[in-house]
Amino acid sequence: MIRRLELPERTIEVSIPVTMDDGSLRVFPGWRVQYNNARGPYKGGIRYHPQTNPDEIKALAFWMTIKCALLNLPYGGGKGGVTVDPRLLSRGELERLSRGWVRAMFPNLGPQVDVPAPDVYTNPQIMAWMTDEYSRLAGRPTPAAFTGKPIEAGGSAGREFSTGQGGLDVLTALMSKLGRAPKDTTVAVQGFGNVGYHLARLLQRAGYRIVALSDSKGGIEDKRRLGMEPEHVMTSKQAKGMIDGMYCIGSVCDFTNYQAITNKQLLALPVDILVPAALEDAITEQNAGAVQAKIILEMANGAVTPEAENVLVQRQITVVPDILANAGGVVGSYFEWQQNLASEHWTEAEVLQRLQSMMTQAFEQTWSKAQQHQVGFRLGAYLVALGRLAEAMKLDHPR
Ligand code: GLU
Repeated sequence: MIRRLELPERTIEVSIPVTMDDGSLRVFPGWRVQYNNARGPYKGGIRYHPQTNPDEIKALAFWMTIKCALLNLPYGGGKGGVTVDPRLLSRGELERLSRGWVRAMFPNLGPQVDVPAPDVYTNPQIMAWMTDEYSRLAGRPTPAAFTGKPIEAGGSAGREFSTGQGGLDVLTALMSKLGRAPKDTTVAVQGFGNVGYHLARLLQRAGYRIVALSDSKGGIEDKRRLGMEPEHVMTSKQAKGMIDGMYCIGSVCDFTNYQAITNKQLLALPVDILVPAALEDAITEQNAGAVQAKIILEMANGAVTPEAENVLVQRQITVVPDILANAGGVVGSYFEWQQNLASEHWTEAEVLQRLQSMMTQAFEQTWSKAQQHQVGFRLGAYLVALGRLAEAMKLDHPR
């Protein structure tokens, strides 16, 4: 079984020609890695990032396999990507690229084959274009072919923030085990995309103090430790293009209470909870020794390297692993897919209640396994997931 899990079942590499607005032609490399489908159709996001490469996609597809098994979803694992900086593309170019990805991958996709979703720098609009392209090629509306769609295009209530909501659900379960309350608990969040933003917003609403936030350009720290309002920060980021614009009116900034910080400084702040919600390899062997938080909620896939994890575990820092902490995203996707297949609409309250119950259950199972074997949460989570995967693979193993 381990030998079967060492390699993905299929890797599809394509080139996607796109006519740019100026009439020139560019060709973008794209991938879909279908890692394992013993438990159901391949499932996982598509990322658009200038550094994306097949090795990264392969690792992410493996983690999706484990994540779906941990949450007991009827899915295998996959991941896709395009090496591109989408921030430099016009809306039209982005649409042509997204439709091109689907045309190239079409024979290997479908509601019962492989169901992509958003990931880094992809969003509901991109999923809407992709679903439309798939439906045209299939000759029939096929909303269940993609998840993370806008609600008007067959998306689910709650999916837009389900990754953050699931992270909060897991943290809530952990805090109650530790006998701790959110009040006066300080949090630093690295990354202000879909995951970091919604999680920070929900944490603040739950009573936590968000004392530092950052995006790819840099961050801001609340020196008073009173807690910032993520929604306010988002408004000013949208208006000014940067996070630390928040406490500046025109060119007059409040430097007494707020300070601009780097991403590196954010990771080493004296806070209770650290949330890496940007990209993989944020916490490595080099900076794990500088972490002062007692809990790390790993919201970005692969944010903590295995070497860093050893250092953190030795320093008795609790790491809630990505495959548990950020699984609310794919659970939200699962609800969307179920609704599409059954032509149903669930209310947001219904979605959130189901989400909380599945996240809490996965947390409890991880907690028990970790206790039983006297290991950290990551190993506990892998034991639960691999156990399920092993059962499924035993049943379908070709003799
Ligand atoms: N990209 C998200 C993840 O890494 C969501 C995947 C999905 O919804 O299929 O889990």
